[in-house]
Amino acid sequence: MADPPGGITGTVTDRLVEANERYAAAFTDPGMDARPVLHVAVVACMDARIDLHAALGLALGDCHTIRNAGGVVTDDVIRSLAISQRALGTRRVILIHHTNCGMQTITEDFRHDLEMEVGQRPPWAVEAFRDVDQDVRQSMARVRTSPFLPHRDDVRGFVFDVHSGALREIDPA
Ligand SMILES: [Zn+2]
Repeated sequence: MADPPGGITGTVTDRLVEANERYAAAFTDPGMDARPVLHVAVVACMDARIDLHAALGLALGDCHTIRNAGGVVTDDVIRSLAISQRALGTRRVILIHHTNCGMQTITEDFRHDLEMEVGQRPPWAVEAFRDVDQDVRQSMARVRTSPFLPHRDDVRGFVFDVHSGALREIDPA
């Protein structure tokens, strides 16, 4: 797959580094604390179409964002949430999955195929899913039952529609 044109120096990464040079030149230190202003952690899919800050009206410094393939609550997400809550003062968790997620197009066979290809079984589950609502419920349940998290009452889950930009809340049931 060809990279998009990268400007003068060629690669996409070079283009990003150049963008940072301009960013840093205009940067003024906002002097913020590391503790999120809204005491919230957002766990979301890494999908490139979701601009979390714009979609939720968030400003710099407002929240922690924890993203992975699917927005699935894995052990590593629990690790980040434990640090977020215990060391950096967050009190609530918002989970955001979305329509047309890439995780709905693969299955657990992905892991088997990978093992066959590289001769080693990956230590992680793929966490593929068919039903996005059910996967949000599963992720909410994992947060609510984690013994490592002191704040498990204010946990809400949503599906973001990549075509309309709207969130739909999922009942935990
Ligand atoms: Zn996704």
